Parts: sequence; structure tokens; C-alpha cells
Amino acid sequence: MTEPAEELRRCSAKGCPAAALHAIVWNNPALHTPDREKVWLACADHVEGLRSFLARRGFVRYVETLADRLARGGESS
Ligand SMILES: [Zn+2]
Repeated sequence: MTEPAEELRRCSAKGCPAAALHAIVWNNPALHTPDREKVWLACADHVEGLRSFLARRGFVRYVETLADRLARGGESS
């Protein structure tokens, strides 16, 4: 398995250049099968806004730190 370059782990907020600290795991039941995990990465400033955006639509599965996710061997994107 190839490790993605550190600079690719950017916040998913539009135009934000900050490094991501959190992973927001979500799924849109209308588009995705239940086992599919979509991930948005977020910096400390954007995690709440991105999480609420998805939560309003009922898409949020869980939020964890990117460090925890990577330590588990999870995908970062
Ligand atoms: Zn950000």
C-alpha cells in the first residue's frame, strides 16, 4: 500500500489550504450502498461547519480525528 503524500490531506472546505485534522465519515443512502464510506477531511476551523452540513441531510456516520483513522489503516479520502 502506498502512503498518500502528506500535502494531499487537506481540509475539504472550499478554498481552505489548511491541513486536515478530522475525518467526517458519511454516506448518502440515495446514492451509496450501506457499506460505502465517503470521507470529508476538515481542519479545526471547518469540522463543525462541514459536519453540520452533512448532519442536516442525515448523512453523517461519525467523526474521528484523522490521526485515529490513519492509525487504523483507514483511507484518508
Ligand atoms: Zn478548513
